[in-house]
Amino acid sequence: MKAKILIVEDEPAIADAIQYALETEGFDTIRRSSGSEVPFLLAKESIRLILLDIGLPDISGLELCKHIRKTHDTPIIFLTARTEEIDRVVGLEIGADDYITKPFSPRELTARVKAVLRRTEHFHADAPANPDFQVNESKCRITYCGRDLDLSRYEYRILQTFLSRPGHVFTRNQLMDLAWEEPEASMDRTVDAHIKNIRAKLKAIRPDLDPILTHRGVGYSLKEGL
Ligand code: CA
Repeated sequence: MKAKILIVEDEPAIADAIQYALETEGFDTIRRSSGSEVPFLLAKESIRLILLDIGLPDISGLELCKHIRKTHDTPIIFLTARTEEIDRVVGLEIGADDYITKPFSPRELTARVKAVLRRTEHFHADAPANPDFQVNESKCRITYCGRDLDLSRYEYRILQTFLSRPGHVFTRNQLMDLAWEEPEASMDRTVDAHIKNIRAKLKAIRPDLDPILTHRGVGYSLKEGL
């Protein structure tokens, strides 16, 4: 099956050139000229990599990348016209995999795309990230060791975020950001209190395991392959 690449670029001439170069190399492409539909597309389509323009008409590519990273590991290569942005772009804070400065040649573009695809291949092994957990995204439910967890929306989002990147350490701020989209998550409670609740619910099912690791002064992660 051809790898599907999402091109998010508002300049038609550049998007045309990218699409032509990638399709010539045997990739499938989807094009969008703004960022608004990207989260929806990621949920619906199996997208292997995103080429993301930083200067989009509706949202900054940097903001969109941060938003995507809360739920998806899809590799992202930024397209940027401004070299001074680069330091921020590839930093851990934003979570992009690479960047290409405009103008670029089709050969340079496809070489970068292939390099990132090779580097990130392991994300796409079919084995579940953590076999003890099963996520049903359409129902917002997670089962643990075969039992349904009774989670609040915010607890669900935290656990789903951990499961999207096992082993990755999430800071309290990153976890707090998830609450923005959940108005009912009360802001007077700390992330630690929510983690404590999730742990108690997991422990009720498997008292001998604690799949969530605390990284003192930093944040939390999910243990890889229990
Ligand atoms: Ca642009």
